[in-house]
Amino acid sequence: MSDSNKVSETEVTEQHTEQRLLDVRNLEVTYASGAAAVRGVNLSVDAGQKLGVAGESGCGKSTLALALLRLLPAGTKVTGEVLLDGEDVLAMKWGQVRAVRWAGASIVFQGAMHSLNAVHRIGDQITEPILLHRKATPAGAKKKAGELLEQVGLPAARAEAYPHELSGGQRQRVMIAMALACDPRLIIADEPTTALDVMIQAQILRLIEQLVAEQDLGLIMISHDLAVLSDTCDRLAVMYAGRVVEEGPASEVYENAQHPYGKALSAAFPRIGDVASRFAPRGLPGDPPDPSALPTGCTFHPRCAVALDSCTTEDQALRDAGPRHRAACVHAGAQLPAQPTSAPVTAERTP
Ligand code: ADP
Ligand code: MG
Repeated sequence: MSDSNKVSETEVTEQHTEQRLLDVRNLEVTYASGAAAVRGVNLSVDAGQKLGVAGESGCGKSTLALALLRLLPAGTKVTGEVLLDGEDVLAMKWGQVRAVRWAGASIVFQGAMHSLNAVHRIGDQITEPILLHRKATPAGAKKKAGELLEQVGLPAARAEAYPHELSGGQRQRVMIAMALACDPRLIIADEPTTALDVMIQAQILRLIEQLVAEQDLGLIMISHDLAVLSDTCDRLAVMYAGRVVEEGPASEVYENAQHPYGKALSAAFPRIGDVASRFAPRGLPGDPPDPSALPTGCTFHPRCAVALDSCTTEDQALRDAGPRHRAACVHAGAQLPAQPTSAPVTAERTP
């Protein structure tokens, strides 16, 4: 760790003296195509803490998750530090990275059908990493697989089933059991419930919460749905065009977003159970920018209803926007001008 006590302007949690479970510093990822998908992300997670990462499709959330465990394609440029228990994953030898992928941190991906091998019984898929990384006996690994299935709410006998014999929700439970197989300290869940219907989604979220609490795990939960994240996580980081543009306590970010993008996301995903507003989300027009051709200044300015002229040329770092709450907006901390409910207009304003 650095001697300096100075907290970088873009760090996602407060100052902390003990070693963190995960400490990501100034992470930058550029694909071989030139796409700058992650641009200077700082975030940290402690044991027992649940961090939500939100943002529309294309904002760099999955790239961030893959970078943490060095799962990106060859030719991708990754810089910065990914300190897991103080050790930089980006600087590790491959043998060490492989061990870390199961026992240090593991990922639950979206779309469990594609991640499970269709021709192998699920029990065999769960025991494989246990045999490989835990040096268990076959009988010991089988017993552990049964216990893991029961932990995620499936009968141990389901170990004999093939993936196609399970429902979508059951397959996602199997994915979670696999992620837990080698007793990781950190779970990264990338859109773990996006492919599931609302009832099953709620069950899986409660299961993840319960496991995190029981085992004192760290959790990074990634979703485009701010309502789901605020319901599950302690803190939220909102990503836009590869950067964290807002972060703070989950309820604060969801109910009192200070960045116009955070505001638009929370308006687009009203409270779980709020049926009336779900049918009329106040969407945000346009798409996130192409990471190979980012706009100048604040990358959100072309879609921003409250942009100033200066936003077209000046980018903003995260700044205080409330208690333990920060946003990278020129208006953060001040009262935001009222936003129109229809298409945005480019604000003509004298500074
Ligand atoms: P999210 O998970 O938030 O939807 P991604 O991390 O998948 O975002 O993608 C971020 C950006 O990186 C997108 O513009 C996407 O097109 C680009 N990208 C993702 N994977 C690759 C890749 N293998 N090669 C080049 N660009 C990629
Ligand atoms: Mg993704």
